[in-house]
Amino acid sequence: MPTVLIAGANRGIGLEFARRYAAAGWEVIGTARDPEAAGDLRAVARVERLDASDLDRVAALASAREGRPLDLLIANAGTYGPRRIETAEDGEGWLETLSIMAVAPVLLANALLPNLRAANGKAVAITSRMGSIDDNNSGGFIAYRSAKAALNAAWTSLAIDNAGLAFALLHPGWVQTRMGGAQAPLPTEESVAGMMRVIDGLKPVGRAPFLDYQGETVPW
Ligand code: NDP
Repeated sequence: MPTVLIAGANRGIGLEFARRYAAAGWEVIGTARDPEAAGDLRAVARVERLDASDLDRVAALASAREGRPLDLLIANAGTYGPRRIETAEDGEGWLETLSIMAVAPVLLANALLPNLRAANGKAVAITSRMGSIDDNNSGGFIAYRSAKAALNAAWTSLAIDNAGLAFALLHPGWVQTRMGGAQAPLPTEESVAGMMRVIDGLKPVGRAPFLDYQGETVPW
């Protein structure tokens, strides 16, 4: 039975991944900041506590897997962070956003490399088109955009440094979740079904392709 570890799996896109991989017969490990409140996730997955801003816990979570094969890592946890960067407090919030969406995914992936190697596994980070510098025509969202751009740069290096494994950066589309909001056009089911097809086709290519949920290349 293949195994997937999904960081940030208690709601939204992460929960939909957990449901679908469980339905497809995978062993699913999902992380949540508050496992007691993650009943929907507990119904389909083994739940591990993880707050991505607690970097010690990120590495500990991986070492608890003690080299057991891992077929797929999905680094999904995300937050907008502060909308404006004007005060020192905003700056602290920006640093935390970077930690959650760039530093923690890299620590998690690095710590899980032996597990991924043992399964010829794949490491996927859920990024955003908002992390694309080419595609930024509307400004704003400095914390969120820069954290996703940092994730994109870091995941590319991981892919180059570990060329035997498949890596990818996936943009889920604008999705109906708490983050995406009610006006988002794309149902979570459609986004996640599309990303699962893309993940299925990933091969180790020594890069981390930046693809949307339909497999289209996103500009950097
Ligand atoms: P949600 O807001 O529904 O879910 C976000 C998830 O991230 C939750 O599980 C949340 O846990 C978790 N999370 C947030 N902060 C932390 C933290 N400090 N530590 C651990 N987990 C945390 O958003 P989506 O499902 O829409 O987002 C999933 C991913 O998709 C994110 O990376 C997002 O940036 C990306 N994305 C989403 C788009 C959209 O339109 N929805 C578009 C482009 C990218 P908790 O419940 O504890 O807060």
